[in-house]
Amino acid sequence: MKQYRAWVGGEWVVATSGQERQIFDPGNGEVLGVVPEFSREDMDHAIDAARYAFDQGPWRKTSALERGKFLFAVAAGIRVKASELAELETKNCGKPLAEAEFDIADAANCFEFYAGLATKIHGETMSVPANSLSFILREPIGVCGQIIPWNFPLLMAAWKLAPALAAGNTCVLKPSELTPLTALALAEIIEETGIPPGVVNIVTGTGPGAGEELALSEKVDKVAFTGGTATGKRIMQQAARSIKKISLELGGKNPNIVFADADFESAVDGALFGAFANQGQVCSAGSRLLVERSIHASFVEALLEKIPRIKIGHGMEPGVKMGPLVSSAHRDKVEAYIQIGREEGATLLCGGQRPNDLNSKGFFLEPTIFDHVTPSMRIAREEIFGPVLAIIPFDTEEEALQIANDTEYGLAAGVWTKDLNRALRMVREIKAGIAWVNTYHPTFNEMPWGGYKQSGIGRELGLYGIEAYLETKQVNINLDEAPIGWY
Ligand code: NDP
Repeated sequence: MKQYRAWVGGEWVVATSGQERQIFDPGNGEVLGVVPEFSREDMDHAIDAARYAFDQGPWRKTSALERGKFLFAVAAGIRVKASELAELETKNCGKPLAEAEFDIADAANCFEFYAGLATKIHGETMSVPANSLSFILREPIGVCGQIIPWNFPLLMAAWKLAPALAAGNTCVLKPSELTPLTALALAEIIEETGIPPGVVNIVTGTGPGAGEELALSEKVDKVAFTGGTATGKRIMQQAARSIKKISLELGGKNPNIVFADADFESAVDGALFGAFANQGQVCSAGSRLLVERSIHASFVEALLEKIPRIKIGHGMEPGVKMGPLVSSAHRDKVEAYIQIGREEGATLLCGGQRPNDLNSKGFFLEPTIFDHVTPSMRIAREEIFGPVLAIIPFDTEEEALQIANDTEYGLAAGVWTKDLNRALRMVREIKAGIAWVNTYHPTFNEMPWGGYKQSGIGRELGLYGIEAYLETKQVNINLDEAPIGWY
């Protein structure tokens, strides 16, 4: 069993208390390794390391070109170890290997994107009504606390670290206590680049313990969080104590809307992939499927016809399309929602059970579809974050739009239609940060990611992602130097 250590100030360290946590494979219960369980005090040391690296270390004065080279080296390191990382990701969080391989390649892409962008950060010179050389400087914010979830462990680490480092910040990253292994493997890759000590610190521990310190500490200048909305609200309150800059990427209850004129087969595929990729544990999952009533019956039939093709099993098994949920507690939560759906009177079309043959091995759950869901039901309103799809029939475009926007969330939405005018009308009216037309889920490092309403604050990725890690300074150099004679 591998004994992992956290990476703080350029050193591999254990918790001061000696406390450790076992990390499991949710697909078979095997212990994959042991990681240190950092306390708040340990986290405080990590924050000090990042603070020192920012205030006293060479990183802030490193040229953008050099910072870019570090990030290119991280990307190259990820690519060299891609298959090892993908296997570790699958074993630790459960997703099918093909999905993990995609995530790892995309994490490398993300580091490359921001490596290139490091040298493009620039201020502006403004024309002002005075004899003044007036310009704008863009500067790093400082120490960034970054808290990431368990559904895309390495990819989320890349989304957080790459833009922050490109902008010249120092970072303390806390992965989920359930899935820290690829983040620690990333620390090894980052160490090999020779990055100055303390610029990146990767720390293991619980959210309410070590994680909370990142939101509370006055030595942290910015906190960036991806996870549940309830936790995001708490982090926002804690960050308010020191008016920290914050970025929040939270939950969603995303509508995937199928009109009768859509390409039928593509929409069926998109509905299933939107709902069940990564076992539905995706903030942008199309968990509300709005289907135009005239095709509702045939669409449901086509969905059910394809469900048996979703092979359930350990993510490392060939052909598996659905792995286990991340933990026993999380499966309990998803099952509780399935029970709520039954009690609310929705029609359970398939799933809702633990597969018999796999039940003793891991936290598996069948892909589950409820039909005749009404917009007021809890299964249509609350984020379930599992393989549970709620079908809501609709009659008109106006009704579809009204149902789509009737949510406290606003992360993503899908629209399936051959009518481009209708697609554009829907895209303009839907209150969500990401809109897909005739596709579901693809996103790009070049494009902004984030939510309207309670799905978050700010945007990650693209040029917006680097903005989130920069301060803006106004500079005026007076070219008419003389006393102002005010007094
Ligand atoms: P959380 O939001 O609690 O966890 C996400 C991250 O936040 C983890 O690193 C967690 O650490 C950390 N964390 C938890 N509590 C705190 C805290 N008080 N202060 C600082 N950091 C904290 O999600 P859960 O895992 O509990 O899942 C609950 C629900 O959240 C899911 O069912 C789903 O609905 C939603 N969710 C949304 C995600 C998204 O991508 N938008 C991702 C994950 C969950 P640790 O794991 O160590 O506790």
